[in-house]
Amino acid sequence: MEIVKGSGDESKNTPAPPAAQPATAAQPAPISAQAVKDAPWVECEKCQSQVFTQERIKIKQISKFLTGAPQDSIIPMPVIACAECGHVNKLFEPKI
Ligand SMILES: [Zn+2]
Repeated sequence: MEIVKGSGDESKNTPAPPAAQPATAAQPAPISAQAVKDAPWVECEKCQSQVFTQERIKIKQISKFLTGAPQDSIIPMPVIACAECGHVNKLFEPKI
């Protein structure tokens, strides 16, 4: 007479796979239409105009001594400026 130990169900006890996704704190929630409706218009910090233009450009100058290039490099960055007085709000400064 043969005695078989164990029920043979061990394979069902494998632990669940770890959560595939890391914390998503860095992902902003999508902006709802209502949130846009409720949001205030941005005003110029100088003249309170609510109209802006994106024709202004700021330029980063990278030294040739950092890049090894024969001359300095320039990196243009479009910025949003007040259409009335040309002021660039802190909010619109490039974040680099
Ligand atoms: Zn202005």
